[in-house]
Amino acid sequence: MSLFQNLDDWSFDVFALDEVAQGSPLKCIGYYLLNRHGLIRKFKIPPQILENFLTKIEEGYCHHKNPYHNNLHATDVAQTMHYILYKTGFMNWLTELEIFAAFIAAIIHDYDHTGTTNNFHVMAGSDTALLYNDRAVLENHHVSATFRILKEDELNIIHNLSKEDYREFRSLVIDMVLATDMSYHFQQLKNMKNLLSLSEPVVDKSKAVSLVLHCCDISHPSKKWNLHHRRGKKTDFKMFEKQDLVQCAEVFKKSNLTPQEVIANGIRFHLPMYGAPKKITGLNKF
Ligand SMILES: [Zn+2]
Repeated sequence: MSLFQNLDDWSFDVFALDEVAQGSPLKCIGYYLLNRHGLIRKFKIPPQILENFLTKIEEGYCHHKNPYHNNLHATDVAQTMHYILYKTGFMNWLTELEIFAAFIAAIIHDYDHTGTTNNFHVMAGSDTALLYNDRAVLENHHVSATFRILKEDELNIIHNLSKEDYREFRSLVIDMVLATDMSYHFQQLKNMKNLLSLSEPVVDKSKAVSLVLHCCDISHPSKKWNLHHRRGKKTDFKMFEKQDLVQCAEVFKKSNLTPQEVIANGIRFHLPMYGAPKKITGLNKF
C-alpha cells in the first residue's frame, strides 16, 4: 500500500501508517506534509535537519510510554490539521508562514507529555508546575521544550526564517499550543460563536488557527468507529493505571456510565466545535 493512501480522508488510519512507517509515523507524516505543501522549499529547510528535528520530537512523544498522548496522537492531529486546512479551503485564507506554524504546532502540541494531567502537576507541586506557576502547565512545557530544541543547530528547522518571520512563527505556535489546554474549551467556543454572530465579523487569524488545532486535538471521537474504538480501548485500561486519572474513574462511577459510554458522549460534546471553522471558511466539508 502507498504510505499516504487516504491521507485526504477524515478517518485516515494512523495505525496502518504506524505499521508501514515501522514505529515512526510522526516523522513520516511531518516530512510528507511539509513537503507536499511546499514549506520545505519555501522556508529553505535542509532535509537532514528536518529529519533530525522530527526524530527528536517523535522520541519525546515515546519516552514516557504514554498510552494516549504519544506519537500516534500527534500523527493523528497533524493529519487532521492537513484535512481541515486543505479540504475546507482554510489554507487559501492563510499565508505560507501561518500554514507552516499550524503544522509545526500540530506536530509538537503534546511533545514530552508526561501522561498526567495539569491538575496532577499542580496538586503534586511538580517542577513543571512550579516553573509555569500552575498555568497551562503541560501546554507551556510542550511549546517551551520545542523552542529549546530549535536552539540546537542540527535540529533548527527555522534557521532560515527572517527575524520578523521568526517572531510571527513563534507567537503563532505559542498561541496555538497554549489554546489546546482543555480548561479554555468553553471560553474559546463562546468567543468564536459571539464573533461569528456579528454581521461583519473580523476574525483574528491566530485565534482561528488556534481553534482549528483545538478541533484537531479532540477530533478523535468523530473519526470512524473502528479507529476510535481501537484507540479508546487501548487507552481506557491504561488510563486507570495513572494515579491522576483516579478522578476519571470517580466520574464514571458517579455517572453510572462505562468508559465506552463516556467516550460516546464525548462525540456529542465535541460536535459544536466544528461549526466555527465551517462558518469561517463558508464551506460545508465538516
Ligand atoms: Zn493532544
